[in-house]
Amino acid sequence: MISKQKIIDRFTSYVTVDTESDPESNTTPSTKKQWNLANALVEELKEIGMEDVSIDENAYIMATLPSNIDREVPVIGFISHFDTSPDFTGANVKPQIIEKYDGNDILLNKEQNIVLSPKEFEDLLMYKGQTLITTDGTTLLGADDKAGIAEIISAMEYLIDHPEIKHGKIRVGFTPDEEIGRGAHKFDVKKFGADWAYTMDGSQVGELEYENFNAAGAVVKVQGKIVHPGYAKGKMINSMYLATEFLNSLPRLETPEHTEGREGFFHLNSIEGTVDSTKLQYIIRDHDKTHFEARKEVMRKLADELNSQYEKELFTVDIKDQYYNMREKIEPVMHIVDIAEEAMKMAGIKPLIKPIRGGTDGSQLSYMGLPCPNIFAGGHNFHGRYEYVPVESMQKAIEVIVNIAKLTAKKEV
Ligand SMILES: [Zn+2]
Repeated sequence: MISKQKIIDRFTSYVTVDTESDPESNTTPSTKKQWNLANALVEELKEIGMEDVSIDENAYIMATLPSNIDREVPVIGFISHFDTSPDFTGANVKPQIIEKYDGNDILLNKEQNIVLSPKEFEDLLMYKGQTLITTDGTTLLGADDKAGIAEIISAMEYLIDHPEIKHGKIRVGFTPDEEIGRGAHKFDVKKFGADWAYTMDGSQVGELEYENFNAAGAVVKVQGKIVHPGYAKGKMINSMYLATEFLNSLPRLETPEHTEGREGFFHLNSIEGTVDSTKLQYIIRDHDKTHFEARKEVMRKLADELNSQYEKELFTVDIKDQYYNMREKIEPVMHIVDIAEEAMKMAGIKPLIKPIRGGTDGSQLSYMGLPCPNIFAGGHNFHGRYEYVPVESMQKAIEVIVNIAKLTAKKEV
């Protein structure tokens, strides 16, 4: 296997480059600085001996590891993203290496007394004795998803160095802007040319995901009427009171803080209001397509009811679908999940299959014609100062990629 030190060096070289994405930007990539890592990755892919290495005008990177067998077998792909979340700063990341983790509190930052503790994050205890990479408490780490990139490149390098391992054609894809929901938007599925792919973008070792939310965003506008408060009787309509009527009519227990597993929700993201008008921004989530559609209908009906109650068009609801549950696209090709499961078992990992309470680039790609389940990259506590990744989990992810390559080589087209 690839040495721990090599993985640490590779991963560190990525996370120390700031690639935070920006939802306010309209360009691709959303931030210019993402080019810095993107260009370096292109060079690295060439250096390790990948072929057809390309980067397009939007910084989407693709590369090929050619087949080393005579038979035709399916072309598979591995995908991850090089941007980091705008939720927390990704500038000046100073990774710290904790060797042989002893299961106690980790002092991330002495000056600011920032501690990563198993009392708060009990997952840490699974990694006793292992090598952890943490932040210095002032930034995120960027294991999401630079761990995925390090794993994919390491696995390709391993396969290049071990030609005795037989595999078909493998495609690699690295994207910008996943964290702002646009990683798949400009992904050229045709150019990628894989029969299916895996995003290496999950968390804990063993995670394997092919179900995610159906997602929509809803904007509810409430129109009031502003009149001088001294002369308002019978005339003023205070949109903020009407807005609370709307939000109180939705089921209070069907919200993120009261749901788990496959339970869906309405999530009120923001309220902005004056007497004259109020805007409520919601997200709607549900794994089940029928329930998802019903939730959208509930909001529209509620607006209609309130409008007829007030005998005025005061409420408008504008709903836009954001992404869909990939399960629908994966179920007809379940063997691609079976291969990943088998690849994990070969590496001595117990697969943890669970529905994602969110979306992945893979869900969008699946609807663009590239079925794309999600596999663990190994990190924990994404998007914040407590993010960490065990190097042993990254080694396991590399092994899983290599095993998937081996297993696919036994498949017929
Ligand atoms: Zn990610």
